[in-house]
Amino acid sequence: MTIEDNKVESWYVWREHKTVEGEETPRLLIPWANPDIYEYPMDWQFKTIAEAEEAKSEFAPDEDWYLVLETLEVVKRYTPEPCRYCGGNCPRDEDNCCDGYSGNIDNLYE
Ligand SMILES: [Zn+2]
Repeated sequence: MTIEDNKVESWYVWREHKTVEGEETPRLLIPWANPDIYEYPMDWQFKTIAEAEEAKSEFAPDEDWYLVLETLEVVKRYTPEPCRYCGGNCPRDEDNCCDGYSGNIDNLYE
């Protein structure tokens, strides 16, 4: 599955407004789902406000959080270059690389 350039997604997410140690001003940060019960950050994305509210009431009913609309815009994709000999993952897996890459038989690599 590929993602198109400049794709934009919007999600409802929960954030807490806290000041990070060493910083001057508070920011909207990913909260932890009830830290006394759940070990994981509440970084879930919701399609609707109702879904977000349902999750909060279940997992973190007593937390003082903000519901925010987060927009994710793809600005660039970083795709690793495939092997110039076989198209595989040889540059990042030299233990299992092809003979072409192993011997650099056509001097495709410097
Ligand atoms: Zn290869």
